[in-house]
Amino acid sequence: MKPRDRLRIAMQKSGRLTEPALDLLNRCGLTFRQSRDKLFCFGEGEPVDLLLVRDDDIPGLIAQGVCDLGIVGRNVLSEFKGVTGDGAAALAEWRPLGFGRCRLSIAVPQDMEYHTPQDLAGLRIATSYPGLLNQWLREKAVNASVVTLAGSVEIAPKLGTADLICDLVQSGGTLVANQLREADVLLQSEAVLAGPDALPTDERGDMIDLLLKRLDGVIQVRESRLLLLQTSRSSLDAVTRLLPGGPQPTLLPVAGQPDQLMLQALCAGEVSWRQLEEIKKAGAREMFVLPVEKMLA
Ligand code: ATP
Ligand code: MG
Repeated sequence: MKPRDRLRIAMQKSGRLTEPALDLLNRCGLTFRQSRDKLFCFGEGEPVDLLLVRDDDIPGLIAQGVCDLGIVGRNVLSEFKGVTGDGAAALAEWRPLGFGRCRLSIAVPQDMEYHTPQDLAGLRIATSYPGLLNQWLREKAVNASVVTLAGSVEIAPKLGTADLICDLVQSGGTLVANQLREADVLLQSEAVLAGPDALPTDERGDMIDLLLKRLDGVIQVRESRLLLLQTSRSSLDAVTRLLPGGPQPTLLPVAGQPDQLMLQALCAGEVSWRQLEEIKKAGAREMFVLPVEKMLA
């Protein structure tokens, strides 16, 4: 492979991960010139280009060194790492990206009993993830036969080509529509940034470093909430103790009410209704939870 002075990222051309992946890269300050129906998108500001491909091809492109990084489901990356040879083992999951969440699950016909993986002994399981399924069956010491299908796995039990399936589940709607129910989970998946185990030693290594820093900033902002509330000075300690993690809150006076304070706190992650109710019970009122748009510490 010739050394390259531009970074190349592989992502899904058209599918569930396309919009969120592009949105994430845009938030990292990356914009691309070419239209999206092309295979290759040239990066405008930064020396970072995109290769738009089928998601199944992404791990292979990184393993071959055609691309430096990829945005792909953990399910696809893990299947590739498990099934393919030595080169694949050198692929790493660098960052979980928080979208494209789903599970790789065992789903059985509604009326089939399932208590433990051993209930699957002797049955035929249809899947597009034979590597991950075989590995799980080995770990559970279950002897079942794996029927590999490229797509439409969920109709295999109805067609009689398998007794049950192992497939991706998000809401479970597809399973219900096919009279199946989720019985066990093999893998919790989401989109991840995948790359080689080690950073390239040329300029691309520095660019990846920079991209990871921006990505971390974007992810941190996306997961941050600003909590605003009012409390009396006497309830301040109790309220502060209940605040979700984050830096020290800021306190502001409330005009005309010397015993009241306005509290502002940056929280890492969601603030649930339950947490809000607890904080209210401790003496807070006028509570607001706001998303954070940008952050520069
Ligand atoms: P391609 O043409 O790129 O091969 P695909 O049909 O294999 O597309 P999509 O259906 O777009 O792929 O799914 C891409 C990824 O989205 C999956 O690999 C998985 O990580 C994630 N995903 C999230 N929810 C689901 C779901 N309910 N079903 C399938 N994939 C899901
Ligand atoms: Mg695919």
